[in-house]
Amino acid sequence: MSSQLIDQASPALATKRPIDLGNVLFLTVTPIVALVGTALYVHYNGIRAVDLAIFAVMYLLSGLSITAGYHRYFSHKTYECSRPLQLFYLIFGAAAFENTVLHWSSDHRYHHQFVDQEEDPYNILKGGFYAHMGWILLKNPRPRSVRFQNIPDLLKNPLAVWQDKYYLPIAITAGFILPMLVGLAFGRPLAGLLWGGFLRVVLVQHMTFLINSAAHLYGSRPYSLDNTARDNAWLGVVTFGEGYHNFHHRFPADYRNGLRAHQFDATKWWLLAMRPLGLVSNLKRTPESLIVKARLDVELRTLSEKFAPREAAAPHAGAWTAMRERLETLKSSIEFSFARYHQARRDYKASRREASAASRRKLLAALETNRQEFRESLRKWSGAMSVLNRLPQPSAQLVTLTAFVDLLKQSGL
Ligand SMILES: [Zn+2]
Ligand SMILES: [Zn+2]
Repeated sequence: MSSQLIDQASPALATKRPIDLGNVLFLTVTPIVALVGTALYVHYNGIRAVDLAIFAVMYLLSGLSITAGYHRYFSHKTYECSRPLQLFYLIFGAAAFENTVLHWSSDHRYHHQFVDQEEDPYNILKGGFYAHMGWILLKNPRPRSVRFQNIPDLLKNPLAVWQDKYYLPIAITAGFILPMLVGLAFGRPLAGLLWGGFLRVVLVQHMTFLINSAAHLYGSRPYSLDNTARDNAWLGVVTFGEGYHNFHHRFPADYRNGLRAHQFDATKWWLLAMRPLGLVSNLKRTPESLIVKARLDVELRTLSEKFAPREAAAPHAGAWTAMRERLETLKSSIEFSFARYHQARRDYKASRREASAASRRKLLAALETNRQEFRESLRKWSGAMSVLNRLPQPSAQLVTLTAFVDLLKQSGL
């Protein structure tokens, strides 16, 4: 985005914004209908399995259309998506009543570009409620012509433009009429409307809102300390995997948010399931070496913030600098050994096709050696980190050169 465009938008961002009456009405009436209406309906008609099934299917379809569609495809282009699946995302994304994909993605790209700043549409520094839903209750400060300058690719997508043009009829048909018709097929149209329409809309919306609020307030920051985004396992479970938000802000082009097998990322699993069907392709992954480097950088910076301010004090000035130099050396050796290990893994995998048994054995031995070297350097690093992290916030007297020398011995550096 050019600075001229930011200049055009900034004065409006800073001024007092009028209330968006349509959004205020929707965001207050739907929860009342969802809670009171569903409770009354259950009181008089009970709950049947079909009601819960309509709710669950609609929740899944509209929730995944937001996370896999609006977010990881349209906003970040983390993979290539077939037209039929794009159409599916646009229809059921509209059913979540979170605005058109053009608006959603534009806002979200500004969020990443200006995170924690005035230009961030859901800036957490303006408070948890503002980031959660307060920002939607006010009119968008960016004029439409300026706002959409950050989505030139989407403006060229005829399906996205079609959804923008017919958003309300699509949203009402897919979000309310469809679940009501399914309910009607089972003789319970009102149950379909309440469970699959109102209650589901409210829950999917707050699922998304939690990423803008809670995922910038609660959790850890293993990959970047440059912004407020946090990794949070329980948020991952309730948001189809979007809770690993610190990783996402650091590597937004990655189709995954939860990297590891134990991390709940249903959106990632959905995309992996769509791949063999030919509906998605070219799922982008961050090179593992960059992920390792990001983690080491954060750990080193955390320690630096803890020890560096005290180091100027006499009589042991320079103690942290000396320690830091050793840690920097170890960090480089981890990155180097990881690169060698990774290369050895690639060589061994490639050898499966044509190499002789003898050369494959050699490559396997090299792979094992490189794996051991990488693990050993990581073990030393973890040892040093756990010792240094256990130390309390130091006073000038505590951070002595002797203390550091002891630490070096303990951590095997
Ligand atoms: Zn965020
Ligand atoms: Zn994002």
